[in-house]
Amino acid sequence: MFEKDLAQLEQSHILRRIRIVDSSVGARVTINGREMLLLCSNDYLGLANHPALRQAAMRAMERYGFGSGASRLVSGTSPLHQALEDRIARFKGTEAALVFNSGYAANTGIIPAIAGLGDIILSDSLNHASIIDGCRLSRAEVKVYRHKDVGQVETLLKNSLNAKRKLIVTDGVFSMDGDIAPILDIVFLSEKYGAILMVDDAHGVGVLGKTGTGTVEHAGGSGRVHIQMGTLGKALGSCGAYAAGSRDLINFLINRARSFIYSTALPPSVCAASIAAIDIVEQDLERRDRLWRNRSQFINGLRSIGINTGNSETPIIPIIIGDSGRALKVAQRLFEYGIYASAIRTPTVPADAARIRTTVTAAHTDDDIDTALDAFKRLQREGYL
Ligand code: PMP
Repeated sequence: MFEKDLAQLEQSHILRRIRIVDSSVGARVTINGREMLLLCSNDYLGLANHPALRQAAMRAMERYGFGSGASRLVSGTSPLHQALEDRIARFKGTEAALVFNSGYAANTGIIPAIAGLGDIILSDSLNHASIIDGCRLSRAEVKVYRHKDVGQVETLLKNSLNAKRKLIVTDGVFSMDGDIAPILDIVFLSEKYGAILMVDDAHGVGVLGKTGTGTVEHAGGSGRVHIQMGTLGKALGSCGAYAAGSRDLINFLINRARSFIYSTALPPSVCAASIAAIDIVEQDLERRDRLWRNRSQFINGLRSIGINTGNSETPIIPIIIGDSGRALKVAQRLFEYGIYASAIRTPTVPADAARIRTTVTAAHTDDDIDTALDAFKRLQREGYL
């Protein structure tokens, strides 16, 4: 039934395949029995396999078992869910927080809860797919503004004075480009025009800000963003996501966010591991320093040989290639050199902006970064870049 469609995807170089990784996630992984340098995970702080997370999860599993049994409104909630939400709120400096099963579930739950028919959503053109889907589900009028173009945000707000409710939503760190949203400018506009502001900080939390709480802290906008969404599965090495904000917001989401209401809760062990991860983010500052040192070493090395890394400002460093077929060839060649970094193609990025999305983490060593740079130099000599 789908043979033709699949053949078409393959022909256009945009067929996706799942690759099996036999080891745990880390700077090095095992694929088909071969050790590879992993250069594309979101495990920015190297916590996915950290002993503190493993132990916290195992202890929780011994106490509470594995499954959570049902959605939290149906059969109650474990103390660990509550403890995680209190921990997130304390970490983020908000009144309250609510945990979702994934970032995708968070965005597709929060946005339609906040905005509906008669409302207007302003959304950055490079926002994540889960935001796009949340906007579609909401049935609000969606106005997509040019990437980071605050001038256009203001124009759109001026033209939307009749909307019942206005929601501005932006990634904090853009997931495929690694650049940072102009948070303070958007905060200013949301205050000036009475719009609700939501920041998806999937790639900012644990990475940006003096205390690691993310893009809003980094921008100096703490206390001025109504909804801070973030994920637990990236720098925090766990799984799931959260909304952090006022007590009223959280009580409202408990009643209105369908992906929260109608979905089985995360296992308590995931909550325990997430709490352990937040403790590490707060206490182990060296880990974040290491991440940023690795990022500098890598991006400076790439730039010194003239490789196009787009507008990266974070540990997400895209190597912009252009054509999907070429991006696949580059990924394949990297793989032959022992480096796993996948080709990101349309519809994730524009069709003419396929790329290798590289990420560095705190788990990488100087040698790992040098190995990666050597591989890119070889690819360049071979005419791939
Ligand atoms: N928002 C952004 C900006 C993301 O990059 C991602 C993950 N790729 C998500 C949301 C979804 O998060 P999750 O993987 O937890 O579903």
